[in-house]
Amino acid sequence: MALSAITEPDRPFTRRSFTPRFLEGRAFLAARFIDAGLAVRIDEAGNLIGRREGSDPDAGTIMLGSHSDTVPSGGRFDGIAGVIAALEIARALRDSGTQLRHTLEVVDFLAEEPSDFGLSCVGSRGMVGQLGPGHLGMVGPAGEKLAEALQRVGGDPKLVGAMTRRDVRAFFELHIEQGPVLEARNIDLGIVSGIVGITRLEIVFEGGADHAGTAPMDLRRDALVAAANVVTAIRRHAEHLANEKSGYFVATVGCLDVIPNAANVVPQRVRLVVDARSSHRPMTERFVAAIDQASCESAKAARVERAVFERLSDTMPVDCAPGLQALLVAGAQAFGFSTMPLASGAGHDAAFVAQIAPVAMVFVPCRGGKSHAPEEWAERNAIAAGATTIMEAVRCFDAGTQRVPRQETEKE
Ligand SMILES: [Zn+2]
Repeated sequence: MALSAITEPDRPFTRRSFTPRFLEGRAFLAARFIDAGLAVRIDEAGNLIGRREGSDPDAGTIMLGSHSDTVPSGGRFDGIAGVIAALEIARALRDSGTQLRHTLEVVDFLAEEPSDFGLSCVGSRGMVGQLGPGHLGMVGPAGEKLAEALQRVGGDPKLVGAMTRRDVRAFFELHIEQGPVLEARNIDLGIVSGIVGITRLEIVFEGGADHAGTAPMDLRRDALVAAANVVTAIRRHAEHLANEKSGYFVATVGCLDVIPNAANVVPQRVRLVVDARSSHRPMTERFVAAIDQASCESAKAARVERAVFERLSDTMPVDCAPGLQALLVAGAQAFGFSTMPLASGAGHDAAFVAQIAPVAMVFVPCRGGKSHAPEEWAERNAIAAGATTIMEAVRCFDAGTQRVPRQETEKE
């Protein structure tokens, strides 16, 4: 709550990455990290890191964290809950006098949300060597390059491209669910099975602009009729894939440009963007093939041309490490918290960290599933349950204890 008070005053809760407010929030966090006995630094990728040395210098690092930046008019919990939970775990280890074998790092990743430079997950990309010259040359609204902004917040654009962490043995991230499932089912915690891959398709239909009053129905080339058929086909195929239960699948058409978009003109050109997300890559490939075919058929039926069918962007799904998931389930059980496996339909820093280390995530319920809005809310006890579960998993991972969760039917 104290961190959320650091916001643009007329637009709660806004702490955009790279802004003075963001740096104020980070100064607040850095002071709390130091209070918790952590050594504070900012790495080449601009991530704020608090470090607690382990007893065995060869054991490597257990990393915990999330992000403190927000979307415009965002919430108090998205990202921040994960940073605070990580900090609290460091405090609890200190207060209980627990010496871990592994070094523990608490991380506030830089710019997880899409930044004003048009790039998200800047810090976690950088940490795994995925922040290249193309990214660093991206320009923000004030004409500043991302490289300059990175330097301004304490990163090192010259070294970040070559950055590779080889010491991370496990990464845990707590995050609010940002969806309604846990609350609806009255389950304490979601153990994330994987983070979806996101594929965006652009489809354009070209027809003919005719007078809406004089063009007879059988002579029209209406691009919007073709697009409408594709929208319903996308819905039908997505529902079919979601019902297969071989993985998580959702697809949305949230963007439709109609030209000329006038009440008395037959639509000449329509562009739509499809956002498809899945935890299982073969489902995405089948979906894209089905929509490819459906859009050709729709074009033909409406006597228009399918001018564009292209992948605008395409990321692979990431699996969370089964061993770490088992530690989390067992940790939750030890404290009597109910769990269920959940796929993450949103992207997270963990998806990038997965390139250098096994990762796992805990979702805590949030009210009404609302996120990226000022109403976003998670109960203190829910976050505490998630933090407790991660701390238990950290203790067991550090001790090298393999834990097999009890098989039980989860309460519905
Ligand atoms: Zn987030």
